Amino acid sequence: MTVNTVLIITDNVADAKLLEETLATARDGPFITDWVRHLSDAVTRLERCSVDIILADLFLPDSHGLETFDALFKLVPPIPILVLCDEENEHVAIEAVQRGAQGFLSKGHFQTSLVPQALRNIIQRKKVEEALFVERERSRVTLESIGDGVLSTDVAGNVTYMNAVAERMTGWARDEAQSRPIAEVLHLIDGDTRQLQRNPVEVVIAHGKPLTLHANSVLLRRDGYESSIEDSVAPIFDRNGRITGAVVTFHDVSEAKIMALKMAHLAQHDYLTGLPNRLLFNDRLSQAIAYAKRHATQLAVLFLDLDNFKHINDSLGHAVGDMLLESVASRLVSQVRHSDTVSRFGGDEFVVLVLEDALAEHAAITVEKILHAFAAPHRLADHELHITTSIGISVFPGDGDDPDALVKNADAAMYHAKKKGKNNYQFFNSAMNALAVERQATEVELRRAIAGDELLVYYQPKVDLVSGMVTGAEALVRWVHPEKGMIFPQSFIPIAEDSGLIIAIGKIVLRQACRHAKAWRDQGMQSFTIAINVSALEFRDSRFIENLRNVLDETGLEARFLQLELTESVLMRNVESSSAVLHKLKQIGVQLAIDDFGTGYSSLSYLSQFPIDVLKIDQSFVQRISANNGNGIIVNAVIGMGTNLGQKIVAEGVETPAQLSFLHAHHCTEGQGYLFSAAVPADDFTRLLGQGAIGVSVPRQ
Ligand code: C2E
Ligand code: CA
Ligand code: CA
Repeated sequence: MTVNTVLIITDNVADAKLLEETLATARDGPFITDWVRHLSDAVTRLERCSVDIILADLFLPDSHGLETFDALFKLVPPIPILVLCDEENEHVAIEAVQRGAQGFLSKGHFQTSLVPQALRNIIQRKKVEEALFVERERSRVTLESIGDGVLSTDVAGNVTYMNAVAERMTGWARDEAQSRPIAEVLHLIDGDTRQLQRNPVEVVIAHGKPLTLHANSVLLRRDGYESSIEDSVAPIFDRNGRITGAVVTFHDVSEAKIMALKMAHLAQHDYLTGLPNRLLFNDRLSQAIAYAKRHATQLAVLFLDLDNFKHINDSLGHAVGDMLLESVASRLVSQVRHSDTVSRFGGDEFVVLVLEDALAEHAAITVEKILHAFAAPHRLADHELHITTSIGISVFPGDGDDPDALVKNADAAMYHAKKKGKNNYQFFNSAMNALAVERQATEVELRRAIAGDELLVYYQPKVDLVSGMVTGAEALVRWVHPEKGMIFPQSFIPIAEDSGLIIAIGKIVLRQACRHAKAWRDQGMQSFTIAINVSALEFRDSRFIENLRNVLDETGLEARFLQLELTESVLMRNVESSSAVLHKLKQIGVQLAIDDFGTGYSSLSYLSQFPIDVLKIDQSFVQRISANNGNGIIVNAVIGMGTNLGQKIVAEGVETPAQLSFLHAHHCTEGQGYLFSAAVPADDFTRLLGQGAIGVSVPRQ
């Protein structure tokens, strides 16, 4: 139990003694008493050490009446003061009580046992008051220093308090707002609908549970200024658990909101074109699918890939490439409806969501509009660029019912459009899907074929068109599948190229072909050359040349009897590096041929700079030759051009005597085709060589 200390201030010795005695013998434990006779002594005493209560006679030798009280009260406001008085100056004591004294004790009552009890109560109450005051001060300072607006109400929802931030944000001064309904002071609307929001304080008071506000609350300041806020409301309970009001805390999130919007935009859009990116596209597509399911409508996904964009990018630089992409983006946007979504998936791939196309034809119409719009050139800086696009289309619900499937299938259809010669569109259908599955299976089987010995090299003779003698052969790979039998290159070379297996296949063919060529040369075929097809991946492979040297060493074939056939598209893909590789190959001593000549870019200015020995006229041109029409014109032009550049010309796909005679008449030196022989196994080829000239007599014209 704490012992209370009492300071008695009186000049009356008897009174002092009496009080001291009463307090020393108190029933619930004694008080420690200290007695002084002058105000000045009391002041000194109190400055030295505090006490729990003061019993003061206001009439002292050095101070009189209220003056005494005021001096003490000023000195130690938190210490309760009890005035000692007699009847005639009781009115002074009452005045003192009005000024802050805790009460008065009249002479004649000093002795009663109630005095210690009363003192204890006063001390206790004063301590609680003091603690409360400190607590309230702490809350006040806290509330005024925090950055959030704080506002409290009574149970009727009328404002009882608001801090400075709340004043600033609502535009209401505390005094004005006092006792007004909260909805008037904290004026909230929904940021989307702009409807008045039900004031959260009413809700909290009604339900007695805390509430975090509406994600999209906008606070209207008294002058109309708007700020987005985030807030929470909590009920206040009394000790009996009854709600006595509520506290709202809120803060301005306008800036955070702008920042969040900015970030969200960045995360969902393509930096270059500003179009939605894949993420946002997928989101929109999911929503569109959900809608289409509910309303039994359709939608289409268009997958666009620009044709030969890489070529422009490589040759004119990325800055021009970027400008072109931006130009393409805005052209696309201009061709679709507002409700459709044009997105960029990266690189030169764009994906468009076309909504509510009840019929597949509608998608086709949009696509045709797009292809048409692409026909106009893009004028960028000082370039005039032409670019086309290949488009694949998948339709919901027929071609898939989730975003992934629809995009994947549109992509597959686009791939198909590329195969069909670019600048066109293709619909996805299940047959195309089956094709993809089959490709997968073929790849697996092809790996096995390479590891085993299912790959054979066939040879097709090349013939001197004047003498009819075999000048060499083109090595053409065949896959002898244990179950499916003979498989031709068209069915597996593209897969081998896509999967990289072409490198291994190329090595097998090169080795076999060089070995056979060496044998045939050793048998007396002095002018015999062997031609090998080299695909893009091999040509770009850093180990290609090294392997070539090794195989030549190993088989003993002289480099000049080996001819490498490359297509124009392989060479034109990167003109500079192609040129470097070609010159390295020339250093080794091999011959270089351009295969399928006439079908590719035919950028003659480049081709004339490459060290090319042979042009192989594509069979499509040769086959258009017939005796009596002018279709031979291209063949004729190629022959003339090649001859001028000092290149040998080989005509491919010679099937008829008429073609042969045309070629002969136009001074084409060599030919290859079914008219002479198809590609045959090595043994058959050996026999064929034994026959000498493969006797197609050139008809005289
Ligand atoms: P290519 O290089 O243009 O080969 C000529 C193709 O035309 C061969 O088909 C050949 O059998 C065929 N052909 C020959 N004479 C005639 C004819 O008179 N009329 C017709 N219509 N066709 C004729 P094949 O063997 O099916 O090869 C197709 C393509 O596969 C080749 O076209 C070549 O690009 C590629 N290829 C073949 N073997 C290899 C190889 O070992 N490596 C690489 N990378 N590609 C190869
Ligand atoms: Ca070829
Ligand atoms: Ca060819």
